[in-house]
Amino acid sequence: MNSRRDFLQKLGVSALALHLAPVSGWANSKNNNDVAYDGPVLRVAIMGLGGYGTRVAEAMQSCTKAKLVGVISGTPSKIKDWQSKYGIPEKNCYNYENFENIKNNPDIDAVYVITPNALHHDHVLRVAKTGKHVICEKPMSVNAKQGQEMVDACKKANVKLLVGYRMHFEPKTLEVIRMRKAGEFGKILFFQGQCGFKIGDPTQWRLNKQLSGGGSIMDIGIYAINGSRYMTGEDPVWVTAVETKTDPVKFKEGVDETVQFEFGFPSGAVASCLSTYNMSNLDRFFLNGEKGFAEMLPSTGYGPIKGRTNKGELTQPVTVHQTVQMDEMAGIILEGKQPVVPVDGNEAVKDLKIIDAIYLAAKTGKKTEINY
Ligand code: NDP
Repeated sequence: MNSRRDFLQKLGVSALALHLAPVSGWANSKNNNDVAYDGPVLRVAIMGLGGYGTRVAEAMQSCTKAKLVGVISGTPSKIKDWQSKYGIPEKNCYNYENFENIKNNPDIDAVYVITPNALHHDHVLRVAKTGKHVICEKPMSVNAKQGQEMVDACKKANVKLLVGYRMHFEPKTLEVIRMRKAGEFGKILFFQGQCGFKIGDPTQWRLNKQLSGGGSIMDIGIYAINGSRYMTGEDPVWVTAVETKTDPVKFKEGVDETVQFEFGFPSGAVASCLSTYNMSNLDRFFLNGEKGFAEMLPSTGYGPIKGRTNKGELTQPVTVHQTVQMDEMAGIILEGKQPVVPVDGNEAVKDLKIIDAIYLAAKTGKKTEINY
């Protein structure tokens, strides 16, 4: 495991403890710690019991509106462990060959796909056919064409498709968005997003294009891409990009190591971003406007997120991102709740169009238009 994730792993424990403190108003206003919640609960099966699936499962233990009730896994020993740890009944356990049978299971409402990036397309299409709602990890797929097919398939099957954009529910991030919308930074001029970590094990799927669909951009640069959109409130219309590679053995053809990219937005604002698998301690957003600024450091790790603006430190509560995300997504799916920043498939297709354009710009060396 790389050092960034080691670090985040350690932080996750204290963040989980912090979530137990009252956070009413952010997580779930009905759950103010002394009033029992008796509303609808989203019953979720997790597909892919790996590092992140494990984190989501643990965080879901503190959810009010979402409950882990099932698993889909290719590893029988993990299924057994999860069954005993989370009390999952045998009838809610599936593998990749038989999970279509979930359509006959009235005790599961949604499947959360947390498998390697390039498998999301197939997995989401197959879940949609079962009539269950889908939550899919980022990147939703490995290109915009596949992403659009996933959106269309879920629409056709009349199921919701949400993407694991946990930062869209993070309190300090939401405060910066509120301030920007209220005009407190004035006209937005510039965004800077720096996202990266030093990746370890060269044999992992993240460094195998067949499973990852790319390199750092797909995995970690997507935070700067998506962040540039929710921080500025605009979608970029052009990109320039430069890729650098110090280790062509570890980072093979199609697996980017470091990419620097610039965006232009319709208002004239610009962004400058860095995505890398070769630098530690890189997790920073900076937003600059005519009247003020916001800096988030760290900006997208598991927390605690820290930030300040020209008006001072951001003091919103620390939350466990995945707990809040799953409660909020239950509200979206079951009650039609509208998030401040969208987390649906269309939102993800925009990021995938930008990723397609970044790779094209890096390859051609040309300023590339992005059409939505
Ligand atoms: P892991 O490698 O830790 O886990 C992936 C799991 O997918 C495996 O454990 C396995 O579970 C399953 N799987 C199915 N087919 C394959 C295959 N061919 N090769 C490898 N694994 C397979 O990855 P992560 O959990 O770190 O990442 C999974 C997804 O979650 C990615 O899309 C990633 O981008 C996203 N993610 C999101 C984060 C966020 O903060 N939103 C953070 C980290 C990751 P099983 O044995 O049960 O079948």
